Amino acid sequence: MITVTDLHVTLRSARGEVEALRGLSFALQRGHTLGLIGESGSGKSLTALALIGLLPDGARAAGSVRFQERELLVQDEAAWCRLRGDRIAMVFQEPMTALNPLHPIARQIAEPLRLHRGLGTAAARAEALRLLDRVRLADARARLDAYPHQLSGGQRQRVGIAIALACAPDVLLADEPTTALDATLQRELLGLLRELVREDGMAMLLISHDLGLMAEHSDELMVMYGGRIVEAGPTAALAARAAHPYTRALQAARPRLGAQAHRAGARLPTIPGSVPALADLPPGCPYADRCAEAVEACRAAVPPAVVVAPGHAAACLRIVR
Ligand code: ADP
Ligand code: MG
Repeated sequence: MITVTDLHVTLRSARGEVEALRGLSFALQRGHTLGLIGESGSGKSLTALALIGLLPDGARAAGSVRFQERELLVQDEAAWCRLRGDRIAMVFQEPMTALNPLHPIARQIAEPLRLHRGLGTAAARAEALRLLDRVRLADARARLDAYPHQLSGGQRQRVGIAIALACAPDVLLADEPTTALDATLQRELLGLLRELVREDGMAMLLISHDLGLMAEHSDELMVMYGGRIVEAGPTAALAARAAHPYTRALQAARPRLGAQAHRAGARLPTIPGSVPALADLPPGCPYADRCAEAVEACRAAVPPAVVVAPGHAAACLRIVR
């Protein structure tokens, strides 16, 4: 559905231009969920934003993002406005990013339907109700004229998903869509998203820093660090045998199910050290400075991706086979 080839994104910063995405290649397929994981600052959100034409001001993108015969990277803003919210839609981490506090929710779900589909007021309202039922908002009919502040975090997130689904997009980008919610609700909403992807044949890019959740809800996983994909492959293959030390560190840092640390807002166990600033990334493997297995060669050049099994590759010189 979307094919990304050697995507580079350069940002302007106080320290000059820095390369935030360093050559990403992947594909989003119809009816499939591709999970993108990595610690904060690894470039996950920028990847999603590049796919929906919302990179920050001053950002430069190179490489290719193809969507149904179209090259998205060279598209002008008018073309993006026709595509965004219609063929490619996004669910944000904080639903208030997508919601307007001043308007009742039915009107906000109706807006893309009027804009892209030309529906009249009554038809758009009926469709809004259908969508709210579909994302299983309890008492949807009674809540059509509710304002966002009258809803709980979980209910607002359902409304955010309804808005994204309104025009039955081909591609759904979900950037940490449930991070602010408790573990039970996270599971339920991610399960729902995945079900909708399968039913409608959408392609979903699901972003999270929680490997456990992703293992449950993605068909394939892509592990990102320092603007690069360090490992990618079928979810089951990574769970059974992660090849990259960073992936294994993420797995080890994973909080136990139901543990205190898993609650929203609680501190997560972490990997020693922190993600270096973009401008300070070492020249070779971006993870080398934190990696217990790093040798001199790791710092000399970026390791090439090595195929460890069909469809499963990792960019590491120290792969355990
Ligand atoms: P993630 O979503 O994985 O936490 P991001 O994609 O948001 O990471 O950010 C990747 C890197 O790009 C970070 O180092 C971040 O500081 C930088 N970055 C993101 N957005 C901007 C921006 N608008 N201006 C400057 N730097 C940015
Ligand atoms: Mg992010």
